[in-house]
Amino acid sequence: MDFNLSAEDRELVDLIDRVGAEKFAPKAFERRNEDGHPADNMRLLGELGVLGVCLPVEVGGAGRDALSGILAIEHIARWCPRTAISATMAIAGPGMFIARWGTAEQKAKYLPAIRSGEANMAIALTEPQAGSALTDLATRAEIRDGVCVLNGHKTFCSHAGWDRHILVFCRFAPGTGGIGAVIVERGTPGFTLSQPHYHMSGSPWWELFFDNAEVALDNVLFAGDGFRKLMSSYSLERCAAGASSIGIAQAAFELARQHSVERKQFGRPICDFQFVQDKLANMYLALEQARLLLYKAVKGGHGSVGRLESSAAKVAATEAAVFVCDQAMQIFGGSGMSQEMPLEWMYRMVRTATVAGGTSDIHRGMIASELVGRRFEHRPLAPG
Ligand SMILES: Cc1cc2nc3c(=O)[nH]c(=O)nc-3n(C[C@H](O)[C@H](O)[C@H](O)COP(=O)(O)OP(=O)(O)OC[C@H]3O[C@@H](n4cnc5c(N)ncnc54)[C@H](O)[C@@H]3O)c2cc1C
Repeated sequence: MDFNLSAEDRELVDLIDRVGAEKFAPKAFERRNEDGHPADNMRLLGELGVLGVCLPVEVGGAGRDALSGILAIEHIARWCPRTAISATMAIAGPGMFIARWGTAEQKAKYLPAIRSGEANMAIALTEPQAGSALTDLATRAEIRDGVCVLNGHKTFCSHAGWDRHILVFCRFAPGTGGIGAVIVERGTPGFTLSQPHYHMSGSPWWELFFDNAEVALDNVLFAGDGFRKLMSSYSLERCAAGASSIGIAQAAFELARQHSVERKQFGRPICDFQFVQDKLANMYLALEQARLLLYKAVKGGHGSVGRLESSAAKVAATEAAVFVCDQAMQIFGGSGMSQEMPLEWMYRMVRTATVAGGTSDIHRGMIASELVGRRFEHRPLAPG
């Protein structure tokens, strides 16, 4: 197996590292409590062609494999965690669904703005009563008098207040096969957003309310069979969540490594102490192991990744990142706990990734299911 990056991928990450160090890093920490979308960074990534890296050539993308997208997200995250979350949505989110499943009109209408960084698209899956049990989603879509009418309530929708469009998963008919997806524009009558709420990372999320919201039929991405399609395309987004976590954790590791050499206690650099050495070695091991699993999962893939591989990569990468950020904080001692330092924010960022996009528990269940070739029933068995 060739563990070297291709010349094209090397160029891509070098470009991002150059731009990241010069343009993203100086403002990255300021953005932690900022409600604003990192619009300037996104436009720059759009101009550089980074956001369209995985989109097919026919729709103006670079047509590169999923590894290029994952590398791009990881390297953006090293310099600006906030920008990495937005770039994850653009590179591995709804745009990929539209590129894969959309009509020619939908591709022409929505993909250029995503590719250029001008407008991202949020994704609304979760409902108050349908989180891990996503197939219980109850937001209804009815085709009536030539329009699609939506009624329901979504929650935890990241970026909904920033983005022009939201890809809303909804129910056209009973059962898993009745789940579909509709592209909804902000400002659609009958569609309202809550005030922003915030995760522990400072990232905002919104509730969405649909009260007879009328959406043009042209905006229906699929009127059924959406869950299967969601699962097949969402696997890339899971890997992307792993990539941004690894990028953030790599930055935390670099800070801790440097600090261990510079900080002196008892008249010696703290890296002279075995407990600190142990931490550095374990952080390195965790990062490298998770990165290998992640790259192996996506290499050569276009748009979708295997179920076993994507769940394994997501769990390994997000949990490694939590461990590494936690250990980096420990190596920094008191200043690692300070809100004036970026580390505790980086920890909060990666911690949320073990829940977003399916919790680690749910992914472990999926891994086990693939390993033994059985689908485990989560619902109570019918009496008798
Ligand atoms: C940072 C962040 C960003 C997010 N962004 C979005 C977004 O943009 N769009 C969107 O739609 N959603 C988003 N979400 C929501 C996210 O997808 C859900 O929070 C997640 O799927 C879990 O659902 P829940 O919160 O309802 O928890 P629950 O499903 O209520 O789970 C609670 C606990 O029970 C466990 N559990 C539940 N069922 C099982 C089972 N069968 N086996 C084992 N354990 C189980 C879970 O692992 C968890 O520990 C985001 C969440 C976070 C944290």
